[in-house]
Amino acid sequence: MTQNSGHITAKKLTGTPRKSKNFGEGRICSNENCKQIMSKYNHNKFCYVHAPAKIPRTRGQILR
Ligand SMILES: [Zn+2]
Repeated sequence: MTQNSGHITAKKLTGTPRKSKNFGEGRICSNENCKQIMSKYNHNKFCYVHAPAKIPRTRGQILR
């Protein structure tokens, strides 16, 4: 009676080159007046200066 080995051979991910996500080098901020070179890891269209800032609104709190 042959017994199947219950070994689960885990595939070793060795030597797999990780593709680092980059969005192209040498991109410039979408603002025409801005020549800020974007980081290739920054996926935004604008630089940090022109990026639309998310300003949290304070609702229901009336400061007196
Ligand atoms: Zn900019």
